[in-house]
Amino acid sequence: MYERCPACGLKFEREDGYFLGAMYIGYGLGVGAIAVLAALVWEVLKWPLLKSVFGGIVLFLPLAPVLTWMARVLWIYMDQAIDPDRS
Ligand SMILES: [Zn+2]
Repeated sequence: MYERCPACGLKFEREDGYFLGAMYIGYGLGVGAIAVLAALVWEVLKWPLLKSVFGGIVLFLPLAPVLTWMARVLWIYMDQAIDPDRS
């Protein structure tokens, strides 16, 4: 990850622990994605609920790095909307 945006120079990690908020967003996105994947497994394969949830978690694992990246981007957008960095 770049320290600053190559286009506008925005510093991504403004302070230590800056991306802690992104973890909350990532948690919400992850739970939502697992729920959707588990519902798909449940509907398509007709597995029992617990097995479908486990299948949803397994299908979710390759998506985790992308979701982490998306959570950080959403966090930066939210942070810039509330407290813009003008330095
Ligand atoms: Zn930028």
